[in-house]
Amino acid sequence: MRDAETLRRVLAQLDGRGYASYKQLVGSYRIGVVRLFVDHVQVDPYAPPSRMRIIVDREVADLSSDLTGDAAGRIAVSDFLTRRFVDAAHRMVPRPEGTGNGGFVGIGRPGQEVLERTSVAVLADRVEARIDVGLPASGRRVRGHQAARLLIDLLPRVAETSLLHRNLDRRALREHVTLLRDQEHLRGLLPGRGLVAFVGDGAILPRRSGDSDLPLTGAAVVPFESPGNLRVAFDLPSGRRVTGMGVPEGVTVIVGGGYHGKSTLLRAIERGVYPHIGGDGREWVITRPDAVTIRAEDGRAVTGVDISPFIAGLPSGADTRCFSTTNASGSTSQAANLVEAIEAGASTLLIDEDTSATNFMIRDERMQQLIPAKDEPITPFVQRIRPLFTEKGVSTILVAGGSGAFFDVADHVIALNSYVPNDVTAQAHNIANRTPQNDAASLRVFDSPNPRVPARDGLREPSKTKPAKARSRTDIQYGRENIDLIGLMQLIDAAQTTGIAHALDSIAGRCDGSTSLAQLVDQLVEDLDEHGLDVLSPHRGHPGLFARPRSQEIMAAVNRYRKLRLSAGR
Ligand code: ADP
Ligand code: MG
Repeated sequence: MRDAETLRRVLAQLDGRGYASYKQLVGSYRIGVVRLFVDHVQVDPYAPPSRMRIIVDREVADLSSDLTGDAAGRIAVSDFLTRRFVDAAHRMVPRPEGTGNGGFVGIGRPGQEVLERTSVAVLADRVEARIDVGLPASGRRVRGHQAARLLIDLLPRVAETSLLHRNLDRRALREHVTLLRDQEHLRGLLPGRGLVAFVGDGAILPRRSGDSDLPLTGAAVVPFESPGNLRVAFDLPSGRRVTGMGVPEGVTVIVGGGYHGKSTLLRAIERGVYPHIGGDGREWVITRPDAVTIRAEDGRAVTGVDISPFIAGLPSGADTRCFSTTNASGSTSQAANLVEAIEAGASTLLIDEDTSATNFMIRDERMQQLIPAKDEPITPFVQRIRPLFTEKGVSTILVAGGSGAFFDVADHVIALNSYVPNDVTAQAHNIANRTPQNDAASLRVFDSPNPRVPARDGLREPSKTKPAKARSRTDIQYGRENIDLIGLMQLIDAAQTTGIAHALDSIAGRCDGSTSLAQLVDQLVEDLDEHGLDVLSPHRGHPGLFARPRSQEIMAAVNRYRKLRLSAGR
C-alpha cells in the first residue's frame, strides 16, 4: 500500500500526459484514516468513470454492532451512509470541469425506497464505499493537480464526513435503522394475521406529480384513515404501535368514483413491497414481499406459458397450454403476466382497471348473448379470481370503479370517497344479490402446469458472450436483443435493472436443460442471501453500483427475453 505523498507525486508527474497514463494509478493508498483502492481506470475521459473504493476500518468508523447485527440493520446503515455520502459529495466536491466526466463522483442515488445496494458495504472489519470517479482531463490530457485534489483532499474528507459515526447525526441513524426494522417486522407479521397488505392511519399516499416520487404536500392532502371494521393494530419491536387498514387474504375490490384516489391507493400498496424512508408518507404501507402488479402489456413476447385457464380455443388453433407469441395482445399479455407471476411465487396480485384489458377482466351479458361462449376464447378474470384463491391460495386486490361484476366474488369491497375508504361489502353483496360462491367446484381450473425449463443455452445466443447491460430502468441490452421492462411497475430503480442484467448472465450460465426457471432463480436468491449482493457482479474489488432486484422481476425479465428457448419435450 502506497501513501498519499506517493500518489501526489505520481499525479504531478502525470500532469499533461496522455489520458491512458492514469492507468498507473491502479493500486491502493493510505490517506489519513482511509484507504483508497483504485480498481479500474477508465480508458478515456468519455468512458464510464473509473472505479474506486474508499475503505475505513470498522474501529475507526465506530458503528456499533447492535445497529448492524441483522440484515435489516445492515441494509439500513448502508442506505443511510450512502445518502450521507451523496450529500457530502454534493456539498464538498466542486462541479466537474474539463473534458468528459472528469471530476464526477457517483455512488448511486437512493430514492424514497430503501433497497439493498452495493454502494456502501458494511462488513465485519471495514466499511467500504464504492464510488465511480471521473478522472479529470483537459482534452485527452491528464489534469494531475485536479486529480490530486479530488483523490487526496476531497474524497477522503467526504468519506470521513459520511462514514464515521462521530461525524454523523447519530439519532437520525438510529431512527433510520429502527424504522426499517419495524417495517420489516410488520411485513413478517402479515401472513400470521391473515393479511396481504397494511395501510397505516395517517399515511400520505399521493405523490407530488406524475413524475415525482416525493409526497404531495399542502392543505389538499387527505391522510389515510382506515375504516373501523378493517382496522388492525401492530406492536413493533421499537415499542411503536401502529394502526391502519388490514387488507385480508382473499379477494378485495376497491371501488369509488373517478379521481377519488383508487389508483393512488393501489400504487402505494404495490410500492409497499419495499421499505420507505422516514418522511415519505408511505412508511406504514406494508405489503407482502411477493405481491405482483398484473397489467396488460400488449406487444410483449411470451414463451411456452400455460394461459389455458383464461384463454383457450384461439382461432389460429394455437395451443394455449404452452402459449408462445412474439406479439401478445392486451388480454393474452395480461393472462401471461398473471400465470408467470404465480410461477414466480406471488401470493398476492394487484390489478388496476386503468391498466387492464377489459376483455380479460369481464364480459357482460349482452356480449354473451351476441357472441356465444363457444366463439369466445377468453374466460374472463372475474370467473377465475376465486379459484385462484381457493385452489392456489393467491389473493387479489383489484381496483374496479367501472364495473360491479366483481361484487359477487369479492370478500371485501372498499369504497373510496374523496380519498376516504369505507367498507361497503354488505351493500355490494346486496346489490349483487350474491349467489353462493361455488368454491368447491368439481373442475379445477388451475391444474399445476409443467414447470418451464429453459434449454441448455436457452437464455443466451450461443455466439454471444457479451454481458447483459442495463441501459436504463426499463431496458436491458442482451446480446442483440433489447429486453423491455417498461411493464414492470415494481421495478423502481435503474440500479435494480443493473442487478437484473447480472442475474441474467448468472442464470444463463446455470441453464442445464433440466432445471426449471423458478428453481434457477431460487438458487440465485439463495446465493445472494448467503454470500451477499456482490456475488452477482463479474468484477472483483468494486463490484459496480447496483441494487437487489426481487426474484419476481428477475423472472419477469427472463420471460420478456424474445429468444428464450425452453427444453424440448414440452
Ligand atoms: P382514481 O384512480 O380513483 O381515478 P387517482 O388515484 O388517480 O384516482 O387520484 C386522482 C387524483 O387525486 C390524483 O391527482 C392524486 O394525486 C390525488 N389524490 C389521491 N389520493 C389523495 C389524497 N389522499 N389526498 C389528496 N389527493 C389525493
Ligand atoms: Mg385510477
